[in-house]
Amino acid sequence: MSEKKTVILAGSGHAHLEVIKALTREEIAAHRFLLVSPFRDTYYSGLVPSFMMGDIEVARLTIRSADFSRAKGIEFLQDSVVDFSETENVVSFASGVSEKFDLLSLNVGGSPLTIPSESPSETIYLRPFDSFLPRWNELQRVWSSSVHSRFVVVGGGAAAVEVATALAVRLLRTQDSAGEVHLVAKGPKLCESYSDATSEAILRSLLSLKVHVHLNNDVQAIGHGRIELQNGKELDFEAIFLAIPTKPSSLTSRKIDSTLRISLRVFAVGDGTTMQDEPSLPRSGVIAVREGQHLVKNLRSLLRGEPPSDFIVPSNQLNILISGERSARAVWGAFSVEGRLPFRIKRWIDQRYVNSFVIS
Ligand SMILES: Cc1cc2nc3c(=O)[nH]c(=O)nc-3n(C[C@H](O)[C@H](O)[C@H](O)COP(=O)(O)OP(=O)(O)OC[C@H]3O[C@@H](n4cnc5c(N)ncnc54)[C@H](O)[C@@H]3O)c2cc1C
Repeated sequence: MSEKKTVILAGSGHAHLEVIKALTREEIAAHRFLLVSPFRDTYYSGLVPSFMMGDIEVARLTIRSADFSRAKGIEFLQDSVVDFSETENVVSFASGVSEKFDLLSLNVGGSPLTIPSESPSETIYLRPFDSFLPRWNELQRVWSSSVHSRFVVVGGGAAAVEVATALAVRLLRTQDSAGEVHLVAKGPKLCESYSDATSEAILRSLLSLKVHVHLNNDVQAIGHGRIELQNGKELDFEAIFLAIPTKPSSLTSRKIDSTLRISLRVFAVGDGTTMQDEPSLPRSGVIAVREGQHLVKNLRSLLRGEPPSDFIVPSNQLNILISGERSARAVWGAFSVEGRLPFRIKRWIDQRYVNSFVIS
């Protein structure tokens, strides 16, 4: 029988949730698995736009990651990793305690890039979700007493497009015909990794929802209740949403190799990482899930004393973006299709994913 090893999983992001789901009771009994996260729950980002539209309650996008792990026999520690030593195999936590590990995996998400703001209480970052939710709830109170709501969303990727769409749908539902949603993006097109045709179709969907789209505008600073665009135009807002990229966390600033490791015993996965050979791999929940599915195989190999294998980067991935009241756009490679069916498929995939963590 092999010696009992300690595996520390830092962060309950999408990748580690896959590991926790896949581990068998026998594996958990044979070794010590410890999940460490500052929060007991994980929020599923794919359902955030539906939540912002008012279609679902927060409970529908909440994964009880601590309870799910404990029900499987995995230890849970509510804490944050602040540092680790690869020479001593020790990880240190914010509370001051530390733990020895045989294998460590970091899935701590990315650190949000920030924009200096003179309106801190109206500036709402989408990531991390744990801080987004209370800010969103505060905004609901102001919103209900506001006559003409004006929102600005900063960002040009899929998340920013979905947030602008969700806000526009919400305005339509509240019949706030004088309300406005502005999307301000740095680049010359939306969702830059998509084909030109898909990007233009996304732009048309936004325009049909009366979202004002401002491309080629790099927002460097947020003023008091307003931002200035590069053409000198000023946009007033009641709330400004920042759905901008994240940068690697300081814990995972070193690039990962093809086996998803930064060193012999330390893995790193998810948004907070950059791959040596694939520096432009998109940061998405879909990729984090695929990395998690590979990570569990590599953890098993190392626990058996076998070498880990390479992560095969998927050549294509299915993205489904909300595009309206009951419609979504499915994107696969250079192709995309919009309608009710992609919306229904998205809902089914998202809800099935969240339900897979319900304790039976
Ligand atoms: C509005 C919106 C919609 C999106 N929709 C989609 C979508 O439909 N499809 C898609 O593929 N992607 C989507 N994304 C992107 C997706 O959310 C991220 O790519 C995904 O969450 C990354 O997962 P992750 O595994 O890196 O970890 P994260 O989900 O970022 O989680 C990181 C975890 O680490 C914990 N943590 C942080 N610091 C520490 C620490 N020091 N110690 C221990 N734990 C720590 C956090 O509490 C958290 O549990 C969306 C993003 C947004 C903003």
